[in-house]
Amino acid sequence: MERQADFAKCIKGSTGDWEVVVGLEIHAQVASRAKLFSGASAEFGGAPNTHVSLVDAAMPGMLPVINRFCVEQAVRSGLGLKAEINLKSVFDRKNYFYPDLPQGYQISQYKSPIVGEGEVLIDMADGEAVTIGIERLHLEQDAGKSVHDQHPTSSYVDLNRSGVALMEIVSRPDIRSAEEARAYVSKVRAILRYLGTCDGNMEEGSMRADVNVSVRHPGDDLGTRCEIKNVNSIRFIGQAIEHEARRQIDIIEDGGVIDQETRLFDPRKGETRSMRSKEEAHDYRYFPDPDLLPLEFDQAFVDEIAGSLPELPDARKQRFIDDYSLSPYDAGVLVSDRASAQYFETAAKGRDAKVAANWVMGELFGLLNRADVEIETSPISAEHLGELIDLISDGTISGRIAKDVFEIMAETGSAPGSIVDERGLRQVSDTGEIERIVDEIVSANPDQAAQVAERPKAIGWFVGQIMKATQGKANPQVVNELLKKRLGMS
Ligand code: MN
Repeated sequence: MERQADFAKCIKGSTGDWEVVVGLEIHAQVASRAKLFSGASAEFGGAPNTHVSLVDAAMPGMLPVINRFCVEQAVRSGLGLKAEINLKSVFDRKNYFYPDLPQGYQISQYKSPIVGEGEVLIDMADGEAVTIGIERLHLEQDAGKSVHDQHPTSSYVDLNRSGVALMEIVSRPDIRSAEEARAYVSKVRAILRYLGTCDGNMEEGSMRADVNVSVRHPGDDLGTRCEIKNVNSIRFIGQAIEHEARRQIDIIEDGGVIDQETRLFDPRKGETRSMRSKEEAHDYRYFPDPDLLPLEFDQAFVDEIAGSLPELPDARKQRFIDDYSLSPYDAGVLVSDRASAQYFETAAKGRDAKVAANWVMGELFGLLNRADVEIETSPISAEHLGELIDLISDGTISGRIAKDVFEIMAETGSAPGSIVDERGLRQVSDTGEIERIVDEIVSANPDQAAQVAERPKAIGWFVGQIMKATQGKANPQVVNELLKKRLGMS
């Protein structure tokens, strides 16, 4: 069923509200060491044309041989997308000429893909949950790369990517805003990374999206769409949709019509521009590849893969809510990346989970952001963060000192316990010593003390003075109690 128009998500125009309709085709590279139909390396990088077999170079007489591992990864991904798995699928030739495509066709799947309909649940920032339909997932080969900037008059071709296995994941046109598109791509990426079927590295091109955008007044039929090709970052996908929707609205409101065309997104200008129009559109002349038999497997093959699936983000989120009493928002943030979820669980084990979640999402994520490092290479291990939380909860250090210890841990990689010992940061909970300092400061400041009698909130000034005198090491709870007693407030 089609989604009802949500006016809050519409764009205002001079002729009323406009609904943006988006469908995405995500190309995700299978995390496989070898290519889809040859044994050549699928590794990123490498000197040009060093990862090319005779099959990838399309030498006459060479025959493709399907890589079983890639088939397993496609099935695994399909199951993660809650999709139907087709026990029989067909590889087709998609014919077109391009210098980086030595065969003169791409081996893809057309009418019979390996994976059919599925769905992905996305959580929006306002708490709304939206289901995006998946139309299909099919296996296909990647093309090579033309290189135009190495020589003044010649172009080169690098076939390292030629034949690398891709999963093309096609969504239904269920997405209604740039924000939803970003959430959808992030979620698909998270699912594939949990499954281990694609590394999701968009900078290296392991994931990229073709973005189909059209606009309409709510309730109208679908408008003419434009396809923005090969957008390679989640942020750019959002920007491309925003720009493209606005462009189409302006054309229609000026009395024009939208040409169905393929466009490119220019990240430097933040705009899309025409690449080719429908008149030049390809007729691919798909037909079943005679070099490959239909791909057939039995239900037992699928069941075995289903039995080996890890806990996926949705299930993990629910478990974090149930077992750790986290808010849906916090749970969602923590599970959005498998490594973050793992880190949190290690740090929270046997401790106050809410406190652990705050440390991970606040201090730790802040640190990783500033240092521009991934959680996998965090300078502070989950075990050490857990120990730091223990030092706060057993009263060894105050929460304020803990932030300093955290910074030192980040710089040195040392365990929090040894930092506290070496630097003498233990919290002073010794009532006698704090009492002496309280007395000293209250006696020295009679005017301030008189103010507290009129305005109890003024006690904060004394707390500050005492913390300063103890270099932040006094137990704040003890300080408060003793101060109130000394000032006759309790
Ligand atoms: Mn494709």
